[in-house]
Amino acid sequence: MPRPRKKRRREIKKVPRSDATLPEYDRRTCPEGLVTRRQLREKGLSPGGHGPVAVLRCKYCAYRPDQSCNHPTRGWLYRVDLARPKRVPTLAQEWALDRAMAARSTCPECRRRYYFCLPLRTQGRCDPCDKGYEPSPDTYFASTAPVTHRLAA
Ligand SMILES: [Zn+2]
Ligand SMILES: [Zn+2]
Repeated sequence: MPRPRKKRRREIKKVPRSDATLPEYDRRTCPEGLVTRRQLREKGLSPGGHGPVAVLRCKYCAYRPDQSCNHPTRGWLYRVDLARPKRVPTLAQEWALDRAMAARSTCPECRRRYYFCLPLRTQGRCDPCDKGYEPSPDTYFASTAPVTHRLAA
């Protein structure tokens, strides 16, 4: 008489919730200030070096409050207040770069901004100022207004 085959259940190992290393929250009870990785990304943030501080339990586990959720569908929760901006906005980077370039290519004496870097460390001013001649107009920006968007190629 054949023994009835034992049904193998594909289930993730059950862990009592008290053994969980991180606090776990259901979607409805998730405290303010904790967000998932995806929500961080949508805000343009990254964890900024801190690891997940809690677990967002999967839907399945909403019915098993006594068990720890270790399903792949669980989410990691991060603290918004520890998160950092993902990257410096491109425009701010351009401004910083342009300020640096302007400092190196503007003569402190005639206030002309040239298309090239000046020997400010050695000479302290542009060649025309130093040697007393009028610079050729194609070597500096015609307008004295700050150049807003010119990146070094
Ligand atoms: Zn679960
Ligand atoms: Zn000059």
